[in-house]
Amino acid sequence: MKAEIDRDGCISCGLCASICSGVFRMGDDGPAEVYVETVPSDMEKDALEAQDSCPVSVITVE
Ligand code: SF4
Repeated sequence: MKAEIDRDGCISCGLCASICSGVFRMGDDGPAEVYVETVPSDMEKDALEAQDSCPVSVITVE
């Protein structure tokens, strides 16, 4: 399972990093970023929750 963020659309709300800090973090330049190549199996549920919770729907987890 991999996670991606369309960073151009991110409004830097911080929700994804709060819900799943093992996969998402806030980038130094503002928008959130994915910092693991593959989502660890024990974080898949949280990564999917982050995807569903993003207010601008720019996260893809598949
Ligand atoms: S939840 Fe969405 S809008 Fe908020 S920081 Fe994460 S990617 Fe950006």
